Amino acid sequence: MIDAPRYVLTHLPTAPARRTGVLVIGAGAAGLTAALTAAEYAEVTVLARGALPESNSAWAQGGIAAALDAADSPHAHIADTLVAGAGLSDEAAVAALVYEAPALMRELAAHGVPFERDDEAHFALGLEGGHSARRIVHVGDATGWAVTRQLIAEAQAHPRITLLEGWQAADLLDSAGRVVGVLARDPEGCWQRILAGATIIASGGAGALYGLTSNQPVALGEGIAMAYRAGAELADMEFVQFHPTVYRTRAGQGFLITEAARGEGGILRTPDGDRFMPAYDPRAELAPRDVVTRGIYAAMRATGSDHVLLDLTHLSSKLIEHHFPTICARLREEGLDPVTTPIPVAPASHYLMGGIRTDLEGATSLPGLFAAGEAACTGVHGANRLASNSLLECLVFGRRAGGAAAQQMQNAKCKMQNAAAAEMQNTAAATHEQTPTAREVPFCILHFALDWRSELAAIMVRSAGPLRSGDELLAGARALADWSLQADPDDSDGITAANAALTARLIVGGALLREESRGGHFRSDFPRQRDTWHAHAVQARGRAPFVVASVAPQPVALAHAAD
Ligand SMILES: Cc1cc2nc3c(=O)[nH]c(=O)nc-3n(C[C@H](O)[C@H](O)[C@H](O)COP(=O)(O)OP(=O)(O)OC[C@H]3O[C@@H](n4cnc5c(N)ncnc54)[C@H](O)[C@@H]3O)c2cc1C
Repeated sequence: MIDAPRYVLTHLPTAPARRTGVLVIGAGAAGLTAALTAAEYAEVTVLARGALPESNSAWAQGGIAAALDAADSPHAHIADTLVAGAGLSDEAAVAALVYEAPALMRELAAHGVPFERDDEAHFALGLEGGHSARRIVHVGDATGWAVTRQLIAEAQAHPRITLLEGWQAADLLDSAGRVVGVLARDPEGCWQRILAGATIIASGGAGALYGLTSNQPVALGEGIAMAYRAGAELADMEFVQFHPTVYRTRAGQGFLITEAARGEGGILRTPDGDRFMPAYDPRAELAPRDVVTRGIYAAMRATGSDHVLLDLTHLSSKLIEHHFPTICARLREEGLDPVTTPIPVAPASHYLMGGIRTDLEGATSLPGLFAAGEAACTGVHGANRLASNSLLECLVFGRRAGGAAAQQMQNAKCKMQNAAAAEMQNTAAATHEQTPTAREVPFCILHFALDWRSELAAIMVRSAGPLRSGDELLAGARALADWSLQADPDDSDGITAANAALTARLIVGGALLREESRGGHFRSDFPRQRDTWHAHAVQARGRAPFVVASVAPQPVALAHAAD
């Protein structure tokens, strides 16, 4: 069990209150979709940590999966998703995802998202690894940007949505067993209580816990840590997806080379030019991400190199320029032309399959709290996410969470107007009294390095990277036990560090529990999938971790066939 204090703040500052019907923490695809839906029924406030459109959603490249082709079917999309999920995807969640996708794509297009088309009636559909048909709806290689821009414009124009940029949510507030909002820091560094009838966490994933990542630096799992401290159940935290092909820029940041580059015929080679994936897996470059990632790791180990090459040079320059304009432009800025030169790439953290456990309407185990997008664990992705199912999950389940939160807010309205409103006024004062000061909390302020991001990244890569073992995980857990899980209210970066350290502990804790290899979780001491682990590991503050049997049938065990 991961021991954590109830609040990240060493003491809760006195803070003025503002009220809203539905509060959404996060302004990526999930948060904005939830906000737009909730705003049909309620006043909505959306918090964004940075300036819009800063989010992983805006960086998404490849596209959105939807079974739209005559040769494709929802059944095939479901089957592909279940295979990638390696037995842990919830079939009802997957069915909701897949069946709602085609109408959603048409709706987004009608709202102005300029998806590419073959002709007036048909979207141009791309192919990506793990998909048995062409089904990736896209806007060049900047799909996330096009979708996010549209959602932001709609939210900005909506009379019932208030968008607050540069706000850091730190701790959920509760009253009488119900989440009633959040304590957040405004851009001037002043604290405010935002009280809401329903709160939706849509704060994204945690890829930036690792050094080389495709994610935005803010993707540190802060919302997940917040939910855990408040007592929400988290599931599947051990499942981290590493994207096989990330280019390290001269500044040392990760720049993702989309799956579609392999879908269109890109070949992985060792630095000596040898193609290695067919010998590793019959699906070669189009195998699921975890398999390609381990194939690349094996090739890197065999050659003693820190990268492999993604070769597009045999493809026509017209195809490369047409499909990957953003990638071409970015790599040329780095002095590399992908039309003529293979791209050095390595696996990097990309996506968190686990998160705050929800039902199909985004409700968490805590009354008043919902979650959507990468921060949530709806059960769609199981042990491994299929490419281009994530933006889709944000849209489908963001909408569901927004609707359900607004409905719950309406139901709670009477109570709030009477007893709870008065109670909420007192929440900060009450919680202040209950919260021990830093000196009284034994597990806090043990360790806080100045360059904590690099230090944390080193621990995570060593212990909970693509290749794990019990010994390394234990070493990681010990190292993380020294990290502070609290910070002073004046110390914004310290709050971030403490949240990041807690999310890191939850990932390592989940990985230690799962004594098998499945999907995005590979342990060299338990290299096989085990029937006893056809289940989800659930972690909740103050409770021993427990296991919930998966409702999905045992998978076609493709993921380890060639390992
Ligand atoms: C480079 C890249 C390419 C990708 N390509 C694809 C693709 O082609 N197709 C696909 O389906 N998926 C893709 N993904 C995955 C997908 O983009 C993400 O999983 C998805 O966008 C997550 O959306 P979200 O709304 O949950 O979170 P995000 O879009 O990450 O948004 C999180 C929001 O929460 C806010 N936030 C975080 N912490 C706090 C806090 N403490 N207080 C207040 N606000 C906070 C952030 O500011 C941000 O507004 C890609 C991801 C990356 C990184």
